[in-house]
Amino acid sequence: MKIAVIKEHLAGETRVALLPTNVAKLAKAGCEVTIETQAGFEAGFTDQDYLDSGARIGADRAQTLEGAELVLTLHAKGEEFDRLLEHLASGQTLMGMMDPLMHPENAQKAADKGINTVALELIPRITRAQSMDVLSSNATIAGYKAVIQAAELTPRLLPMMMTAAGTLKPARTFIMGAGVAGLQACATAKRLGAVVEAYDIRPAAREQILSVGARPVELDIEDADTESSGGYAKEQSADFIAKQQQAMANVLAQQDIVITTAAIPGRKAPTLITKEMVAQMKPGSVIVDLAAETGGNCELTQLGEVINVNGVIISGPANIVASTANHGSQMFGTNLENLIRHLVDDEGKLVFDFDDEIVHDTVTAYQGKVVNPRIRDLLG
Ligand code: NAD
Repeated sequence: MKIAVIKEHLAGETRVALLPTNVAKLAKAGCEVTIETQAGFEAGFTDQDYLDSGARIGADRAQTLEGAELVLTLHAKGEEFDRLLEHLASGQTLMGMMDPLMHPENAQKAADKGINTVALELIPRITRAQSMDVLSSNATIAGYKAVIQAAELTPRLLPMMMTAAGTLKPARTFIMGAGVAGLQACATAKRLGAVVEAYDIRPAAREQILSVGARPVELDIEDADTESSGGYAKEQSADFIAKQQQAMANVLAQQDIVITTAAIPGRKAPTLITKEMVAQMKPGSVIVDLAAETGGNCELTQLGEVINVNGVIISGPANIVASTANHGSQMFGTNLENLIRHLVDDEGKLVFDFDDEIVHDTVTAYQGKVVNPRIRDLLG
């Protein structure tokens, strides 16, 4: 099978969808890769590195895509999705992150052109698909980087230090949402010496918070029906969120660093921190809002900005994972390699077996139809 890897066009994106090592392994599985010139440069790989691994180099996007059966990209979102469709022909398959639950109409657009789409956000949360799960990879990096950014922004040091100039208290750090990113943030803050507490609405998260050395915060609010079958959080009622905000205000007022990661797939992020709660926080405290791209967990967050509200520093990073071009590409590329190897037969041909849960859940458009039931429901 012929695979094309294009140079990413999203502003600020530094990663590439495959590394030379992935290219070499895919060649053994019967795949020929063409990569757009300079696509891996920011991740630390030259065109020569790709040539050495057996890839061809495409001089531009059009040449890279020529004859490709499978096209790989990190982001096929917004205007870039439309631009990509213009370059693709019927029968080609596009694989990347495409925000399918927020933009189900894109699956229809692809189907109308006979283009097949594989939306990486929909990889099922099952054990055999763990090695293909780009959301987990991104969340791991985001959780780590959020703590590093908070450590930069806070006017305090994170660990306790007993010095000749007196004892410095450790930074109190609170992680809201203890999924993949939140648990990684807990572990990173702990390693840097902070005192770490965390909270999640899913009761199952309690054990996981303890397992990374943090203290679970219990709020005195009734546990609603919190978890869906895929392990994701369910959207909560406005009443529950209001009770949660009330109970949370005291906890927040004691923190030096707050990292928020709460998300509901396909929905706006829940508001966990209101402006009134920010007003009760200590001057110099820092909030890093990892949900900024889906509306923010803090009411005051501005996407892509670091703002100061009466002494409280609030950061709403955009695509924080792109700041880790090398390891970010390594994780993404390995996820894609594993998925492609799962999809190709012994002769290296791409085969979609819709009885396979991984195919069933991730392929959104196929042979002119929107085939994914979740997307079909959203389209109505
Ligand atoms: P996510 O990014 O969708 O959300 C982040 C966290 O926010 C979740 O833990 C969620 O419960 C929490 N949250 C949502 N609303 C909240 C609120 N109002 N208050 C506090 N917290 C709130 O989640 P994720 O990191 O992708 O992980 C979701 C689950 O899936 C976790 O249990 C994770 O361990 C599991 N998972 C399983 C696999 C697998 O089996 N292959 C892979 C990855 C993740």
